[in-house]
Amino acid sequence: MDLKRIINDHNPEALQPLEHDGFVFGCHSGVSCFNVCCADLNLMLTPYDVLRMKNHLKIPSEVFLDDYTTNRATGHHGLPMAFLRMKDDEKKRCPFVTDQGCSIYEDRPGACRMYPLGRAATKPDPRLSVKEQFFFVKEAHCTGFGQGREWTVADWQADQGLTEYNFYNDLWMEIITRKVPGPQAAFNPQKFQMFVMASYNLDEFRRFVLGSRFLTLFDLPADLAEKIKTDDLELLKLGMNWLRFSLFGDPTLAIKDSVIKEKKAASEGK
Ligand code: SF4
Ligand code: SF4
Repeated sequence: MDLKRIINDHNPEALQPLEHDGFVFGCHSGVSCFNVCCADLNLMLTPYDVLRMKNHLKIPSEVFLDDYTTNRATGHHGLPMAFLRMKDDEKKRCPFVTDQGCSIYEDRPGACRMYPLGRAATKPDPRLSVKEQFFFVKEAHCTGFGQGREWTVADWQADQGLTEYNFYNDLWMEIITRKVPGPQAAFNPQKFQMFVMASYNLDEFRRFVLGSRFLTLFDLPADLAEKIKTDDLELLKLGMNWLRFSLFGDPTLAIKDSVIKEKKAASEGK
């Protein structure tokens, strides 16, 4: 799914199969096409992308979402996804591109790191492992192919710091690529709202977890409530588990025995 984030819908011919695990590529500020790739993108953001970017900018999630994204339904569930909003200028440039390059380089999205490769990862069945496939994104403007050093896919990913991105993105991909049996009505507006909050608005999700019955309802490790006050990654993982539990009924969270007993007693009129 990473692949779809970087390709303009109108340029599918840029995708080319990776016939063998080796390619020669180089990109630096001296290339004639420097920064050309940072415009007019259909760049879907993952929860981990948003977390890294909003923390880089030191702004709350909701401000980031308002100022830098557009929301549109996509994927086979019609789930609302956040896309990086390009500037309203002639070239539709990325809001973070400068003459010197990317202004948020250390925290740029995973798809920007992966480029000129694309990674399509799916996990339609939770019992199976992640299926990943790599492609070249060969766009006419990119002069980097054939320059620089030879890379394997693994070298490229390590060099671009993608291990952590792939890990957190795959937790989310497990939700957005899940095949759901039965009618899609399973995803009503309330579930869409839960999806947006736990995926993209982590600051709101934190307030929700700490300020609602969440901690009384679910049986969580004793130190987790304390950890999520400050640990964004633990919060993100909790959000993914909560979505899997709520959207698909996966046993990723457990309801406390005391709550189950209470409910049973109430239903029996005790
Ligand atoms: S986030 Fe950075 S690397 Fe990605 S498109 Fe924008 S300027 Fe380019
Ligand atoms: S178009 Fe290709 S070579 Fe040019 S700046 Fe972008 S990635 Fe580098």
